[in-house]
Amino acid sequence: MTGKYKIDYALREQVSDIQHGLNVNQCFQCNVCTSSCDVARFNEKFKPARIVKLAILGIRDVLEEEELWYCTTCFFCFDRCPQLADPTEIILTLRNISAREGNLPKSQRRIAKNILVTGHSVGIEKENVENRRNLELEDLPPTAAKYKDAIEDVQKILKKTGAHKIIRFNFDTMELED
Ligand code: SF4
Ligand code: SF4
Repeated sequence: MTGKYKIDYALREQVSDIQHGLNVNQCFQCNVCTSSCDVARFNEKFKPARIVKLAILGIRDVLEEEELWYCTTCFFCFDRCPQLADPTEIILTLRNISAREGNLPKSQRRIAKNILVTGHSVGIEKENVENRRNLELEDLPPTAAKYKDAIEDVQKILKKTGAHKIIRFNFDTMELED
């Protein structure tokens, strides 16, 4: 991150409010979360303590950082944070704010599209359909993907919540808009 930062002190309160009382301000930057994080171990750009610090300082640039999406939500940092600041939730909260502001990365939008189209974030692959046939099983297991009305229900929920607008999904073409 270089140059001028977009400072907005309300971001800290916004995170704190969405966290239902869990307090981002409790973080005292011990970096236990970063040293507990497997993603940080293999990617020097990703440091949960840094993300928490940016939220505390109200630096909105964090909402546009790709690294915000690297967390696997393993909750190791949550377990180990001595201040109960809940860094995982802070990251998830920042992601929610970021997504609402139109910063959802294409990779995440593709996953959301899978849910809209198949009812699952990861669809069943042709190879697995073939394996199931070889085992004399039906092509699809009895999950949402198998039942048209179940997928339609998923679509109704996502439409009603406005999730399709966040991922910029066009129901006429059943594709992402760009
Ligand atoms: S979130 Fe918790 S573990 Fe991470 S730096 Fe802050 S106090 Fe330490
Ligand atoms: S929840 Fe995210 S930030 Fe925390 S340890 Fe796991 S991957 Fe790292």
